Amino acid sequence: MSWTINQALHEAVSFLQTRGIEGPRKEAEYLLCFLLEKERAYLYGHGEHPLSDPEKNRFLQLLEQRGCREPLAYLAGKKEVMGKTFLVNRAVLIPRPETEHLVEAVIRWLRETYPRQREGEGFSLLDLGTGCGNIAVMLALNFPAAAITAVDHSAEALQVARQNAIFHGVKDRVETICSSFWGSLAPGQHRFQAVVSNPPYIPRSAMASLMAEVQKEPRSALDGGNDGLEAYRKILPNARDYLTIPGLDALEIGENQAESVGAVARSAGLLVDQIIRDYGGRERVILLRA
Ligand code: GLN
Repeated sequence: MSWTINQALHEAVSFLQTRGIEGPRKEAEYLLCFLLEKERAYLYGHGEHPLSDPEKNRFLQLLEQRGCREPLAYLAGKKEVMGKTFLVNRAVLIPRPETEHLVEAVIRWLRETYPRQREGEGFSLLDLGTGCGNIAVMLALNFPAAAITAVDHSAEALQVARQNAIFHGVKDRVETICSSFWGSLAPGQHRFQAVVSNPPYIPRSAMASLMAEVQKEPRSALDGGNDGLEAYRKILPNARDYLTIPGLDALEIGENQAESVGAVARSAGLLVDQIIRDYGGRERVILLRA
């Protein structure tokens, strides 16, 4: 039996509800819009429009996957954050809105510190653990003359980052390197005005209690080792060898990690410049100066 749009939404909402998905109406609409390649208003205006059999089957398939806690962003293959759309798949962390605080802080610092280079002329900027490339792309868009290096240990993730660089028209200025943090970057040879990273920072003991959706994301993008700080201990001791003076190391951090990360930074000879909280009042970004 074929379904109209209204029937499809109705069935979807009750199915998602039985699977314990929060906000089932919103999610059902999102998936149907994605499937039909339409805006939400279309669903309301065409409630009696019938779905074709392939559309119905594909919708059922998407619902089943969502019912098994597959994140919406992976199902749709994209996530909208910072006012832009980023392509994503299971090889990358789904970009979070909180990361905008990190990106904004870097842009502000560079504009204040280098007021004459508004386009980013002569800037080399580095994104460690780029994932889908959201940070690298945002920096490239905000500094149209800057050169960005995007590093990730996962070749699959870099493929996604490259797709996003192409999608946003910045591929000529975003170089991707497959390496674990500093791994294959020779120190001293190349210096960056800013090194940015949103590294994994979840303490290992908390990994098992993450939401089922989050557990579908790459473990290596989330797991910060026993105390959640392992990545900072890898990044910070070398940071000064890669930064210009003045230079900025900007890191996303987890709740209540500012003090410990600040201590690691100071012992690496960096100065703690600022700690920025997110809209929920949680410590979210630490800015360190060379
Ligand atoms: N840079 C990406 C982001 O901020 C990926 C970060 C990660 O994989 N830990 O979303």
